[in-house]
Amino acid sequence: MEFSEKILKQAEEINSRMVFNLDVEKGISILDEICPYIAACKINRTLTDMSGMNFVKNLRKKYPDLVFIADFKIADIPHTNEVLSKNAGQAGFDAVTVQAFVGSDAIIAVQRNIDVVLVVAMSHEGAKEFISENVRQFCNLALNLNIDAVVAPATRTEEIKTVREILENKAIILSPGVGVQGGNFGDAVKNGADFEMVGRTIYDAKNPKETAKEIYEKLPFKK
Ligand code: C5P
Repeated sequence: MEFSEKILKQAEEINSRMVFNLDVEKGISILDEICPYIAACKINRTLTDMSGMNFVKNLRKKYPDLVFIADFKIADIPHTNEVLSKNAGQAGFDAVTVQAFVGSDAIIAVQRNIDVVLVVAMSHEGAKEFISENVRQFCNLALNLNIDAVVAPATRTEEIKTVREILENKAIILSPGVGVQGGNFGDAVKNGADFEMVGRTIYDAKNPKETAKEIYEKLPFKK
């Protein structure tokens, strides 16, 4: 099953358009209580660098139905990408994020081992220097490589619209940048994204479970 099918299946089962950004250790202890509200869990290198890949294998065993995305933003030469993506697949991840700017051969090397979520836009200020002006080319690259999921930020809904226009319905859009980074919950989905990705707003909240439930209820569920 392709990555987009997997995450959409899980989303439909629990009516959720939310992905949890698991970037720090304290996020692990709340997974149990927020699980009913999330379709997938995105784990950043900020965590695997500290906790290793065995920790991912254990999570995979504990949550067999949850979709796990490795947010490694791979951006190396094909040979190195091959090794990185094999490791991610063996740890039990369903997909890995890859930077679009590395080009076709480096992305194809990852596709040989695991599904790719292509980063076609980013939410930080510096993204305007090089990434934002190439969003269209990155989307066309996603289409050429039959990639079925991309990342575009909730902080720039005009970029989400551009991405959706180019990709039509050929790929799903995952959108970080809501909450702490400034994006309003629900705006990314209203502008064409399929999922909103939330981290600090949940794990830094006084009551993470309640907060996750509130966000879950705010996100428009798309059939
Ligand atoms: O919700 P919060 O701001 O805590 O989420 C931050 C997470 O989302 C980090 O893992 C960050 O790398 C990721 N991310 C992002 N913008 C992108 C791609 C991923 O903020 N364009």
